[in-house]
Amino acid sequence: MTNQSLQSRKEQVFPRGQGNIYPVYVEHAKNAEIWDVEGKRYIDFGTGIAVCNTGHSHPKVVAAAKAQMDKFSHTCVMVNPYEVAVTLAEKLTAAAPGNSPKKAIFVTTGAEAVENCVKIARAHTGRRGVVAFNGGFHGRTNLTMALTGKVAPYKNLFGPFSSDIFHIPFPMAHHDVTVKDSLKALQNLFKVDLCPTDVAAIIIEPVQGEGGFYAAPPEFLQALREICDQHGIVLIADEIQSGFGRTGKMFAFEHSGVEADLMTMAKGIAGGFPISAVVGKSEIMDAPLPGGLGGTYGGSPVACAAALAVLEVIEEENLIQRSVEIGELFNKRLSQLQQQYPDTILEVRNQGAMIAIEFVNNGDPEQPNTKLTQDIIANAAQHGLVLLACGFYGNVIRFLPALTISDDIANEGLDSFITLFEGLVGSSK
Ligand code: PMP
Repeated sequence: MTNQSLQSRKEQVFPRGQGNIYPVYVEHAKNAEIWDVEGKRYIDFGTGIAVCNTGHSHPKVVAAAKAQMDKFSHTCVMVNPYEVAVTLAEKLTAAAPGNSPKKAIFVTTGAEAVENCVKIARAHTGRRGVVAFNGGFHGRTNLTMALTGKVAPYKNLFGPFSSDIFHIPFPMAHHDVTVKDSLKALQNLFKVDLCPTDVAAIIIEPVQGEGGFYAAPPEFLQALREICDQHGIVLIADEIQSGFGRTGKMFAFEHSGVEADLMTMAKGIAGGFPISAVVGKSEIMDAPLPGGLGGTYGGSPVACAAALAVLEVIEEENLIQRSVEIGELFNKRLSQLQQQYPDTILEVRNQGAMIAIEFVNNGDPEQPNTKLTQDIIANAAQHGLVLLACGFYGNVIRFLPALTISDDIANEGLDSFITLFEGLVGSSK
């Protein structure tokens, strides 16, 4: 069996809309490494898009899932519930930032968690409007596509969209959008299109994920909190990519000291098992009527058991502190590279182990180097790496290593990345 033969088979039966970045078919994966069907090894700097924060097949997570499967794998939490779901809700409501009493619901995907936040916010406020941000990503379902702030490839061809969704600029110092500019745009929106008393929610990623790993400045989140309080608007934190220790805190909102009203959790929650959650203030969470929230597979017992194991591993292995150390290691090495190539590397930035390097031409933020980014991705597998791109202009490489990665493997992967980068930059000179 070869990667190429599998890719040909896949292309016969998968539509191009569900593409794959690498024609590399996984045979097995362990912690921060992946082996393909041809026996080649890769260092994984993508963790399945920020999912396997505790590494591939962590023995504790695997054991918890297997033990649960031996007992039962599905009854539907809306029919016959079970203790693992209740325990997980207790733990996640306690782990969510802020002191207000909280409740949790479980669904299956990130997009579904976002949709449910909007449903709950609308039920609580009786209002229609939702404000989201340029460059934000919230999912691929109809409502979350409307919330997503990037047209291609996420929205074009797919309308009509849910109405009453409005976008404003996300603060990005390097691209000349200040906190003041963003706040002004919000006030403008309130004057031009949408009365604040018609706004159910403002939804924001504390660090834009697909958008390019831009962290919202703490003062921006604090200002949004004040505006939401002033107008009775529900503040939603989309922590799907930034949660579970990824940014050097359990959740990225902790960097600002702001308590959101509702938050999404997914990806890193269960080491790869499909489960997501909405966690929020009890009085808001209780707005929908019985039966108004849920889904057949929401809160799968196997995924709940895995999620409980993930929480234990994060604590036992000190992975939040480790996330800070990993971020420092990557930042140090990539910043050295930036000093050598200031015209090509605009910025190296990280919040914990959510690390990015942004490429431009001629040191100019207005000239995104999308071509170099694409070339890096196209050649990564050959260099034994799994890398992901992101960014509004597609000119950012993001690093999302497992929080369980060793320094040795991280450095080996960075050596390969630097060789790959220098090969391409040298050859394009
Ligand atoms: N919100 C954010 C911030 C995300 O990063 C993602 C996934 N990349 C989603 C929502 C959607 O999650 P899913 O793909 O599980 O629906």
